[in-house]
Amino acid sequence: MKVLVPVKRVIDYNVKVRVKPDGSGVETQNVKMSMNPFDEISIEEAVRMKEAGVADEVIAVSIGPQQAQETIRTALAMGADRGILVKTDANLEPLAVAKCLKALIEKEEPKLVIVGKQAIDDDSNQTGQMTAALMGWAQATFASEIKIDGDSADVTREVDGGLETIKVSLPAVVTVDLRLNEPRYASLPNIMKAKKKPIDESSPADLGVDEAPRLETISVAEPPKREGGAKVEDVNELVNKLMNEAKVI
Ligand code: AMP
Repeated sequence: MKVLVPVKRVIDYNVKVRVKPDGSGVETQNVKMSMNPFDEISIEEAVRMKEAGVADEVIAVSIGPQQAQETIRTALAMGADRGILVKTDANLEPLAVAKCLKALIEKEEPKLVIVGKQAIDDDSNQTGQMTAALMGWAQATFASEIKIDGDSADVTREVDGGLETIKVSLPAVVTVDLRLNEPRYASLPNIMKAKKKPIDESSPADLGVDEAPRLETISVAEPPKREGGAKVEDVNELVNKLMNEAKVI
C-alpha cells in the first residue's frame, strides 16, 4: 500500500508571530519555520505502517516555496521514502492545495492519504476534507487511532462526547489529531540518509492547477494586549473592586 502524506512548512510553533506593519499578513522573513506539528504525526503514522508491513511506500508532499524542500527532508529523515515538492511562491488556499493533491493522487495512486487535521498558520481545517471531496473518496477526520483491515480502515475519531469508531473503505483520506501518536526525532544517521532520498519537483501549473486566490484578506491585527493584574490586600478589597471598578457583581 502506498501512503501519501502532505507536509506543510509553517512558522514554528514556538515563535511569537508578529503582524506586518501594513496589516496585510504576518511576518515570515527571518522567522524559524518548521513542519506543521499535525503533519509530523501523519508522517509518524505512515512510517509506523511501513514498519509494520502494512504500507510499502511513504511519499511526503509539500506545496510551497523552494525552502519547503527542508520540510520534505525532515519527513524523509523520519522515514518517508521519497518526496514531491510542488513549487510556488504564492500562499495557496486549501482549495488550491487540495487540487494539487488531487493531481498527484491521480498520478501516484496511493491507497491512503494521511493529512494533518489543520495547519497551525491558517487553522483552516479544510484541505483533507476538500481533497476527499474532489477525489470522491471516503474520509475520516480527527483520527486518534487508525487500523488498516484489508480494503478498509477502522478509524477512531475524537468527538465531543468521547470516541467514535468508523469503518471507511480504501482508498480514503484520513486527517489526524494530536493523540494519534508521538512523532519520533530524526536520528543523525537518518538525517544523513535522507539527503540521498529523491525529491521530484513540479509546479501548480504543471499539475494544471489555477493558484489564483478565491479569498481577499481585508486586514490582519494583533490580539488586544492583556492589561496587567493587581494584588489586593484582602477579600473586602477584592469584592469592592469587583463591584465598583470591574462592575461584574
Ligand atoms: P489546513 O486545511 O490549511 O488547516 O491544512 C490541513 C492539512 O493540509 C495540513 O496539516 C497539511 O497536511 C495539509 N496542507 C495544507 N497546506 C499544505 C501545503 N501547502 N503543503 C502540504 N500540505 C498542506
